[in-house]
Amino acid sequence: MKIMVIAIYLLMELFEYFLVYLNYKNRNAPLPDNVKDVYDEETYAKQKAYEMDNLRLGIVSGLLGLAVTLVVLGFDLHSVFFYMLGIESMYLRVYFMFIMVALISLPLGIIFGAIKTFKIEAKYGFNKSTVGTFIGDIIKEQLISAVLMLGLISLFMLLHGAIGNMVFVAFFFVLVAVMLFIIFFFHFFSKLFNKFVPIEEGELKDRIDELSLRTGFPVKKIFSMDGSKRSTKANAYFAGFGRNRVIVLYDTLIEKCTVDEIIAVLAHEIGHAKKRHTLMSAPLRFGAMAILLLVGYFVVNQVSISTAFGFSELNIAFNFLILTIFVSPIFALWSIPVSAVSRAFEYDADKFVAEHASSEALISALKKLHRDSYANLTPHPFVVLVQYSHPPLTQRIAALYPEEKS
Ligand SMILES: [Zn+2]
Repeated sequence: MKIMVIAIYLLMELFEYFLVYLNYKNRNAPLPDNVKDVYDEETYAKQKAYEMDNLRLGIVSGLLGLAVTLVVLGFDLHSVFFYMLGIESMYLRVYFMFIMVALISLPLGIIFGAIKTFKIEAKYGFNKSTVGTFIGDIIKEQLISAVLMLGLISLFMLLHGAIGNMVFVAFFFVLVAVMLFIIFFFHFFSKLFNKFVPIEEGELKDRIDELSLRTGFPVKKIFSMDGSKRSTKANAYFAGFGRNRVIVLYDTLIEKCTVDEIIAVLAHEIGHAKKRHTLMSAPLRFGAMAILLLVGYFVVNQVSISTAFGFSELNIAFNFLILTIFVSPIFALWSIPVSAVSRAFEYDADKFVAEHASSEALISALKKLHRDSYANLTPHPFVVLVQYSHPPLTQRIAALYPEEKS
């Protein structure tokens, strides 16, 4: 059983490296005509160097992460920590096991995160983050994920004890509720990391008011965010649902783009909101949870999984944790339709721009954003198929101007 778990884990790691390799192999593919003007020669050379630096870092950090996981699994460290304290409470032992295993891989995450931010991003002039912000982010992220993870595992153990295998049905609703909670309160959590202010009065504000009136998206839900606190890279997003919907424009986007371009990007986000893309993609996310719990039904109660990793009896918390390895191949397949739907929504939101703002302005904004973040313009089609939530730029442009297909 132990061999099987480790084999699945290694196979999925290999698959990740295969995707990285495909993009690497495709790095010198000729640029399609409609994106040839994104980079000049000098910038394109820098973009390639940036990709290579990230690739090298990714391989080294990935291999070390893999080594750590193999040590943790190979030496049964979960059960070692579980029995270490000799305390009575099952819950406290499980918490200790989770926290200790997380602490083992945390230093790697911090070190490679720091190298990425302060070496690579800084080398290419992207980084704006200070050491204080960087450390603050890690502490906040770790606290949020620890509370969420330990809360969920406690609830799972509690329900498993109370209602037995019905826990898998009940937990479907728990996970759906948690997912809706996170989407609904996304903006609330974002405020822990960034500042959000209304758009300043002026030409841009007037144009936004006009667009808001025309498309029916409430203007008081449109904010500027201090993205410049961490990076020069620009972005915009739509989040939440119901009365918690917001559209966020990074201050870096407002700084870099013309008013027409900002309006086009904003129209794209309003398109996501108006066409209810968050709601429409919900069934696919619910599907993922159903898969997780279906596989969970077969994995969590398997005594042989716990005993293979040093436990003397069934440990549902450990089996629940190891479930992530068992579902990873299915989730990799599941991500194909999920990404396809997400890419279809991007085309759909772009179409909204063509109807309510300017396609030209959207294209020039997208080109600017791709250039200013050294984005990869020639991802391998297979990687796009299995992973990309956004279509490659050349395809988005082609979709807006089908007659000028490159
Ligand atoms: Zn979008």
